[in-house]
Amino acid sequence: MQVYTSSVVASLTEKRLLIGGEWIETGAWAEIRSPYSGDVVGRVAKAGAEEARRAVDAAEKAMQAPLPAHKRAEILVKVAAALGRRQDEVARLISDEAGKPMKAARVEAQRAMSTYTFAAVEARKLAGEMIPMDAAQAGEGKLAFTLRRPIGVIGAISPFNFPLNLVAHKLAPALAAGCAVVLKPASQTPLCALLLAELEEEAGLPAGWVNVLIGPASELGDVLVEDERVKLITFTGSSGVGWGLRGRAAKKRVNLELGNATPVIVAADADVSVAATKVAQNAFSFAGQSCISVQRVYVERDAYDDFVAALLPLVEALNVGDPSEEDTDVGPVIDEDARERILEWIRASSGEVLTGGGLDGDIIRPTVIANPAPDDKVSCEEVFGPVCTVTAVESVDEAIALANGTRYGLQAGIFTTSLDNALRASQALEFGGVIVNEAPTFRSDQMPYGGVKDSGNTREGPHYAVREMTEERLVVVDLP
Ligand code: NAP
Repeated sequence: MQVYTSSVVASLTEKRLLIGGEWIETGAWAEIRSPYSGDVVGRVAKAGAEEARRAVDAAEKAMQAPLPAHKRAEILVKVAAALGRRQDEVARLISDEAGKPMKAARVEAQRAMSTYTFAAVEARKLAGEMIPMDAAQAGEGKLAFTLRRPIGVIGAISPFNFPLNLVAHKLAPALAAGCAVVLKPASQTPLCALLLAELEEEAGLPAGWVNVLIGPASELGDVLVEDERVKLITFTGSSGVGWGLRGRAAKKRVNLELGNATPVIVAADADVSVAATKVAQNAFSFAGQSCISVQRVYVERDAYDDFVAALLPLVEALNVGDPSEEDTDVGPVIDEDARERILEWIRASSGEVLTGGGLDGDIIRPTVIANPAPDDKVSCEEVFGPVCTVTAVESVDEAIALANGTRYGLQAGIFTTSLDNALRASQALEFGGVIVNEAPTFRSDQMPYGGVKDSGNTREGPHYAVREMTEERLVVVDLP
């Protein structure tokens, strides 16, 4: 029998699964533990393949009674408002289940509000376009336009690192597009996802439009892949899992938002102190567990010593500790396996550890490694931990070539005062986004966000996600 401490009991969240408008128990429960303290912070009912099929049934049934755009927009606005009212509670929940420092959790809670607000706008303006038919001889005497139709039931799979806002980036555009969803959030962080579903229900969403399953990933994933009624899978997570799903779902759209080994270039003409400040803030926030956390910094040799001298004190000043404290900058990584893997990658690097490299209690200290080999894991794979590398290069062109030298392509950045450098890098960096004079970790939720190469094949941001979640239907009318 599990014995809970009194402080844990006070905050313990017990959640059922949501299928077809009913909150159900299955007899099996999963415990959600704080990555920092190991305390149980919640219990959720566990689903299997049978519940997954019921969820798809419910979603299919819901879509038989379409919701008008004004109603969808109204629900999305109400969820945004509820997120606004409950910011503190929501941020605390993110911090509890993901071990995310409160500073970062508050930003995520605010961003989710923005994601719902933008989705509401998209719901109201979803429209097709007129086709200029008499532009061709064959089209004379015809009127034609397109409708944007919901693609059908959506299977959504989300990762642990933004347990609220990345779920929002699936649920909100799906509703804006008029699609029902079967959501499988990360097993380590299901509580925020269930809270969002609850808020959508409270905002008036009818039964079956959102269904949430927690349970064994491959069993639930198999149902979403194999059931032909699921027309689109939207997946955010690691590259291996994402491309594996796409390979198995030939008849569906499978939209992938995957990892990165995020590079940033510091040109010799850059404001080195701004670049160092941005790197210190964006390589270690949430212990580097963002898909666009700064990982590889390439500095032109003339600026290298000044950059490193500016960076190290900023990194060493970061507060490492309990994520529930308001002044903590760097907390734990998600679990022990991740911690051991990251420490092993640091040990295996041929570079020089300038700071960090070990543990502070159970937490990996923010680590800077100088001049690792390009084929070290910390240079060519996604670390997903509080580690960044700094490498001296002879030119911006060399930095661009090194930045392009991995299988990833989500976002990259450059600090420079030269328009020529900025524009050359924007053209030559093989990434979905290039950020100039800001960390490549920058994201605002309306942006088209997504990667090329192994980092993905789609763009999120409500406007772009709604486009993916709808299909064009052509209507041609013969004029009398
Ligand atoms: P992950 O291990 O790939 O898990 C992501 C989701 O996939 C989880 O819900 C997981 O379920 C599920 N999953 C795992 N195996 C599955 C299978 N065989 N079939 C169906 N679903 C399966 O990734 P993570 O560790 O949670 O997240 C970190 C990764 O996400 C990093 O690579 C990061 O860069 C990437 N990411 C990308 C973006 C972006 O927008 N591009 C944003 C955030 C994160 P369980 O939790 O139950 O295993």
